[in-house]
Amino acid sequence: MIIDLRSDTVTKPDKEMLDVMLKAVVGDDVFREDITTINLEKRVAQMFGKDKALFFPSGTMANQAAIKLHTNPGDQIICDKQAHVYNYESGGLSFNSGVSCKLINGYRGMFTANQVKEAINPDAYYYSKTTLVEIENTANKAGGSCWDFNEIVKIKQVCNDTNLGLHLDGARLWNALVVKNETAHQYGEVFDTISLCFSKGLGCPVGSILVGDSKIMEEAIRIRKIFGGNMRQVGYLAAAASYALDNNISRLEEDHKKAKEIGAVLLNLPIVKTVNPIETNIVVFELNNDVDDTYFIKKLKAAGILIIAMGDRKLRMVTHLDYTNTMHEELVTILKKTSF
Ligand SMILES: *Cc1c(COP(=O)(O)O)cnc(C)c1O
Repeated sequence: MIIDLRSDTVTKPDKEMLDVMLKAVVGDDVFREDITTINLEKRVAQMFGKDKALFFPSGTMANQAAIKLHTNPGDQIICDKQAHVYNYESGGLSFNSGVSCKLINGYRGMFTANQVKEAINPDAYYYSKTTLVEIENTANKAGGSCWDFNEIVKIKQVCNDTNLGLHLDGARLWNALVVKNETAHQYGEVFDTISLCFSKGLGCPVGSILVGDSKIMEEAIRIRKIFGGNMRQVGYLAAAASYALDNNISRLEEDHKKAKEIGAVLLNLPIVKTVNPIETNIVVFELNNDVDDTYFIKKLKAAGILIIAMGDRKLRMVTHLDYTNTMHEELVTILKKTSF
């Protein structure tokens, strides 16, 4: 048995999801004739109380399109130093949009309205123009941390006062909604644009979506085309996403519970130095200084457990739909009995 905890993206569609995909009514989405995709877009827009949504092949492309929609070349965006858009999108924001980042030294991937205020460039011609604030919820690199919604509202106020756009990288927003008992609608009220992934906790093989109001979304489909993200009979994927919205959101609680249990076991291992606070499905931890990370990862691999290194000596385990109760029991047993 292989226990793959490298990411929540390693899931494969189950029979029910595949059945729904097989039965999807599809058309050429470039002609906007794929009814399943159009219905998914309408549904997600409605969930968030926004005018429009557009299906994307990846979360990266949805984020990159959002940044493009909000900025002009030479602009600067504000985000946390651990942000996915800054660290893990191959420098796309400078390549695609010609923008730079003012990085905030946040706490667990999150920052305050005051920090945003301080990060805005003065209105002088020799500074780049600050045009966008980007928030990530849950914050991946920090270990799936969830924002305090009140702070987001305060940041929105700053954005309104200073005429900045506000984008949410909500690749794992579903996890935050479940944990915090929040609604998609309240996020829709605050953010101009939100990207969401179906291919992580929700268990779809492919797919992300960008939501926003008509004005900003008007050009989204053109930008997606420029990025090469137009698709044809994409309804097969949209059907999976729709199925996931119906069936795979509330069960995220199970992933969170398992992640917390893993964290508790890790904390008891003598070789583990720290475990980041666990709020959702991501466990980020660090080994004692005298322990070699690669040795630890190899040893786990030999026992059939796959995990990844995150840099800065941090290691990561992510629970997901295909991480079963049996695997969970097995993992706990192996962690407890192995001498590292
Ligand atoms: C995974 C992820 C994305 C998008 O990744 P893709 O692999 O392109 O779908 C964006 N932001 C965060 C925080 C992520 O974890």
